[in-house]
Amino acid sequence: MEDKPVMLIVDDVEINRVVLTQFFQEEYQIIEAENGKEALSVIEEQPISIVLVDLVMPIMDGFQMISMMKRNDQFAGIPVVVMTANNDGDSEARAMEMGAADFITKPYNPTIVRCRIRNVMAREEIEWRRVAQVAQNRQLMEMHQYVEKDSLTGIYNREAFYRKAAELMQEHHQTQYSIVYLDISCFKVINDLFRIETGNLILKTAAFYFNMLVGEEGLCSRIEADHFVLCVPTDKLDMDKMIAGLDSTIQSLGISHNIVFYAGIYPVDNAYLPIDQMCDRAHMALNRIKGRYMTRFAYYDKAMRDQMIEEQMIVRNMEYALQERQFVINLQPIYNSSTNGIIGAEALVRWNYNKGHISPGKFIPIFENNGFIVRLDRFVWEEACKVLRAQLDAGLDPVPVSVNLSRLNFYSQDLLEFLQGLIKKYELPTNLLKLEITESAYMENPHQLIAMVRAFRGNGFSVMMDDFGSGYSSLSMLKDLPVDVLKIDMAFVQEVDKSSRAGAILESIVGLGKHLRMEVVVEGVETKEQVDFLEKIGCRAIQGYYFSKPLDVDSFMGLVKRSQGI
Ligand code: C2E
Ligand code: CA
Ligand code: CA
Repeated sequence: MEDKPVMLIVDDVEINRVVLTQFFQEEYQIIEAENGKEALSVIEEQPISIVLVDLVMPIMDGFQMISMMKRNDQFAGIPVVVMTANNDGDSEARAMEMGAADFITKPYNPTIVRCRIRNVMAREEIEWRRVAQVAQNRQLMEMHQYVEKDSLTGIYNREAFYRKAAELMQEHHQTQYSIVYLDISCFKVINDLFRIETGNLILKTAAFYFNMLVGEEGLCSRIEADHFVLCVPTDKLDMDKMIAGLDSTIQSLGISHNIVFYAGIYPVDNAYLPIDQMCDRAHMALNRIKGRYMTRFAYYDKAMRDQMIEEQMIVRNMEYALQERQFVINLQPIYNSSTNGIIGAEALVRWNYNKGHISPGKFIPIFENNGFIVRLDRFVWEEACKVLRAQLDAGLDPVPVSVNLSRLNFYSQDLLEFLQGLIKKYELPTNLLKLEITESAYMENPHQLIAMVRAFRGNGFSVMMDDFGSGYSSLSMLKDLPVDVLKIDMAFVQEVDKSSRAGAILESIVGLGKHLRMEVVVEGVETKEQVDFLEKIGCRAIQGYYFSKPLDVDSFMGLVKRSQGI
């Protein structure tokens, strides 16, 4: 037996299989299959690490094969990469929706193909912990597998619902179904306020109502705690009526507390999708209206679908983008408003994608979720060091550059070492590289952050607290965290025009910073009036569009040179 991971290549055209085998035979043990059916029997016989599948094949095509795999718990976790003809965006989107991990386009570009497969496998690696957790939960669930009904309410439990809903949709494939996800707002409060029996009574009553409502043609289940899911023919679904009926049924219990159900609806437009993903979509729609008082239900719509597809696109391309240097930095100067001199700059990442840009507001949260931000941040820090080196080489009086440290960085053991490595590699004075951290890192792990910040400063780095005042714990953080610079969140200065209270708050924060002997920088300054106000309250370090937008590296270097008469 070879020790390599196993790759299954499924394509009816031999030459395609041969090409892909060439790409991967060093790293993988390759098995080939000519159609989906043959591939499924291979998968049943031995463990497979990754599947590459063509979409168009005789006997059983790629879509069918993926849908069968995703519906089988045992195989659902195997990453599947689909191979599509060029310009077949529809098939790509459909395959991704069905749970494919990525796609590659023919004719194959060896670099892209390798990169994408590596990317998929790396993601799997990140996933494994989560999967181990899921497996543990699943074991527990399997114990309940043979019990179809939820013991409290008597309606289907999660597993039974997934199975029955798939069967129902297959049996009546001409019928359009909708998945409705319902959740009681603040159910925990109800459990705390009343006895547990009261909570149970509400759940049982709701289940009774749903069961009656779906009748013979639909299904209902309690999938967890106070979450219910229904599967109903779309033409039988009247949400206004359902919510009104539910409200009056629950009110008839005479509980002296407003019990509010919210619902998200996914009208099933892709019957191939695994039921849990259909439920996820309905849940996504629900999450959008949670906490709003007037809106009780919302539909999963095109905008949400587009958002999901865009997120998948971002995750798929991140690795390749880093390798191909699609990420670059811009530098936004920080000015002293009395001298009009440049006293610093912030490095901000940009993603040049297909002749356009994707905004950091979109991709940073995604990368913070999947961990990629740690690598991207390190890339940005290095680019920032290159800019510092370039300034020194040009004989300039160097403008310090600050970089952002996403909170995930604080979980890396070698964070300080890495930064010191950069300082050494580019032969820089440590104080030229400044570190911007935000409150989120503090909230997650205050002790570790305090220790880390001490270590940074002890080693000569200066530390800035970014977006100061935007979170919940700014003041308590200030008490514990010894930082050098407070960077005041842009919301404050932008509110100043609208309310005098905002001005008073800003003035106090600036005073507080001074009192604690910290430098204060205000960001997001856009107008002359704002600059004047800041000057009046004694704050002169300013970052914002009024002085300059973020600039590409060449423009920034040009600006610094001009400002120093070079
Ligand atoms: P941030 O760290 O608070 O960065 C300041 C943001 O405000 C930047 O947006 C900047 O372009 C924008 N800005 C500057 N002056 C003005 C102004 O006068 N008016 C307005 N309305 N906006 C102004 P950007 O570049 O889109 O970045 C957004 C956020 O993305 C950053 O907020 C930061 O949280 C994150 N980010 C950007 N680059 C990186 C990075 O390399 N690593 C990490 N971890 N996060 C980054
Ligand atoms: Ca920042
Ligand atoms: Ca900021």
